[in-house]
Amino acid sequence: MDADVIVVGAGLAGLVATFELTRRGKRVAVVDQENAANLGGQAFWSFGGIFLVDSPEQRRMRISDSLELAWNDWQGSAGFDRLDDEDVWASRWARAYVEFAAGDKRGYLCDQGIEFLPSVGWAERGDLTATGHGNSVPRFHVPWGTGTGIVKPFTESALAAAERGLVTFHHRHRVDELVLTDGAVTGVRGTVLAPDDAPRGKPSNRDAAGSFDLSAQAVVITTGGIGGNHDIVRRYWPERMGTPPKSMITGVPAYVDGRMLDIAADSGVRLVNRDRMWHYTEGVQNWDPIWPSHAIRILPGPSSMWFDALGRRLPQPYLPGYDTLGTLRYLRTTPEIAGYDHSWFILTQKIIKKEFALSGSEQNPDITDGNWKSFARQRVLNNKAPAPVEAFKQRGADFVVADGLEELVAKMNALTDEPLLDAAAIRRQIEARDMQVTNPFSKDAQIQGIHNARKSITERIGRTAAPHRILDPAAGPLIGVKLHVLTRKTLGGIQTDLSSRALGHDGLPIPGLYAAGEVAGFGGGGVHGYNALEGTFLGGCIFSGRAAGRALADAL
Ligand SMILES: Cc1cc2nc3c(=O)[nH]c(=O)nc-3n(C[C@H](O)[C@H](O)[C@H](O)COP(=O)(O)OP(=O)(O)OC[C@H]3O[C@@H](n4cnc5c(N)ncnc54)[C@H](O)[C@@H]3O)c2cc1C
Repeated sequence: MDADVIVVGAGLAGLVATFELTRRGKRVAVVDQENAANLGGQAFWSFGGIFLVDSPEQRRMRISDSLELAWNDWQGSAGFDRLDDEDVWASRWARAYVEFAAGDKRGYLCDQGIEFLPSVGWAERGDLTATGHGNSVPRFHVPWGTGTGIVKPFTESALAAAERGLVTFHHRHRVDELVLTDGAVTGVRGTVLAPDDAPRGKPSNRDAAGSFDLSAQAVVITTGGIGGNHDIVRRYWPERMGTPPKSMITGVPAYVDGRMLDIAADSGVRLVNRDRMWHYTEGVQNWDPIWPSHAIRILPGPSSMWFDALGRRLPQPYLPGYDTLGTLRYLRTTPEIAGYDHSWFILTQKIIKKEFALSGSEQNPDITDGNWKSFARQRVLNNKAPAPVEAFKQRGADFVVADGLEELVAKMNALTDEPLLDAAAIRRQIEARDMQVTNPFSKDAQIQGIHNARKSITERIGRTAAPHRILDPAAGPLIGVKLHVLTRKTLGGIQTDLSSRALGHDGLPIPGLYAAGEVAGFGGGGVHGYNALEGTFLGGCIFSGRAAGRALADAL
């Protein structure tokens, strides 16, 4: 045997499983198709947002949260409707995960030296109903270090375990097959890829340089999702979301190729909820790309005005930062606009300064480097937006800036094949909206939302601009942003039980096989159901990777 356990995929889920196994003295072979520079996978690039419930950070911001409230929100978002079948384990994982988020999740991370910013973000504000989708309160906790800070302790632990002889790394080893012996998984087989010293995140070659076989008592699959493979995204795109856009941009590195899902299925693993996915409607093309068609997601505050491709304001609840998939569904299924692949934000300098965050560790160097002085200088004391946001405003292909609305709309029209926007019609909608900001109350749902958000200290200080007229020159210049659909995550995948054991079509665990992280739908084959509350993906990798590692350490 080459190890006690083979972990396929050196992203966060795989590294957490490795951490749990090696701290109990087990020998682990970590296999990944990419080179050593990519250790940590997607988590390294992530913003690092972590969903916590009733945390000290929330309490300091006078946010009252509870397990009960979070569970109500989760159920309303998940909408589990396959409870006898595909959701049977997913729904159990959901309950366990929300308990983890309200329980020892924060402690588990703090024990690894991870610390959080004092402000808490309010992601997925929801569909405006108490029983439906969305976070009732801010819960998005950003760690110092962003995603790099989340993955660092687990990377360091794996490297230290390698020095002690407990971990062997097999980089540039692509698994093509699971090896079964008498119905139990006993190893993996695959292709040794030619050496490639591409920097982290850059695509690498797929040239075969040999083959390999590895054997162990058990295998953990932690190979991530499908977002880098648009063919798979299109194949499983659900009818309820209309048709997939003709063109999409990509929110993950190329190695998030979804290939291992079908390989696992070939060995009898049950894949569930493949029609559930999490793609964003606020994607912009990266002017400084790392991976192919590299897209950045804008994490928007609530004030930008959102228009469809024909220049009509989106109806509530399809407001910035409210309902990711609801908005995607609206854009893809409303007949007059479904043929277009883009929508628009129109906003002011005052809004971009306070409300635009870019999802990605490299887009937030102040937080990623843990430099709180630079953080305060850029985000609190500065009149401009943080430098990476300003860079997008000036250099991004999807951004236009103008002092007057007619000039702005002309520039927006120049970004599409044909001029679809009518400046007079857009002016009418903005002026009507602007009339709604004079009172501390309003009949406009978006303005109501802005007032509501600013009742939260964390929003008022850090995230929601004071209500103002979009056409007020003092708030300008005006900014238009062309938004694309950005592929990111699968919410379904390998069905697993609460010990992360992979299940077969008979509902029974396949001996020797475990799965965790995005490939397992972040636990159970779809812990989120139909919708995510955000900051739940990294946590899902940690929780399911931990479950796999602990269960295996107990079992072996
Ligand atoms: C820009 C960005 C921002 C994000 N922000 C957040 C956030 O704020 N909060 C949050 O919760 N989540 C966020 N996420 C999502 C989160 O980072 C991912 O869902 C999570 O990191 C997935 O981890 P994983 O371990 O499951 O898989 P991955 O990180 O994808 O790792 C899988 C590994 O498996 C390897 N692999 C795949 N197939 C094979 C094979 N056949 N053989 C060998 N190796 C293979 C891959 O090379 C890769 O290294 C973000 C993601 C991105 C990209």
